[in-house]
Amino acid sequence: MAQKLTIALVAHDARKPDLASWVRGHESSLAPHSLVATGTTGAMIQAACPSLDIRCLNSGPLGGDQQLGAMIAEGRLDILFFFTDPMTPMPHDVDVKALTRMSVLYDIPMACNRATAEFLITSPHFREGYDRQPTDAVLSTQVPAR
Ligand code: PGA
Repeated sequence: MAQKLTIALVAHDARKPDLASWVRGHESSLAPHSLVATGTTGAMIQAACPSLDIRCLNSGPLGGDQQLGAMIAEGRLDILFFFTDPMTPMPHDVDVKALTRMSVLYDIPMACNRATAEFLITSPHFREGYDRQPTDAVLSTQVPAR
């Protein structure tokens, strides 16, 4: 493994079983990395995969999605697996939209379904690393470190 990645795991309620079963199927690939999840998703995956060490943030509607957005802004998140439910209105739809915006801006790979998750985890970049290329909107506003 080239580097230890920080990987986020999130799923809307209707998609949690799907994400938990996908994670179970990739436990050995995910285990060496630093795993972080929104509260309820993390608890469910932890129960399904006791050998994994998952850091649970707040529940999504209570700020967990925003915590992940902050991690992206601070360069502390490498990959986001977010199994979304497009069929159910959510009180925190705006947070989901914001997290998508952050992923696009900062060039974070984001898998919203199982197929994309599968492509991501089997990509050579997953093993060998990837040099992110944030969009110009990000690069043009970066303040030099003091
Ligand atoms: P949850 O949050 O894992 O706490 O359910 C996920 C979400 O953003 O809906």
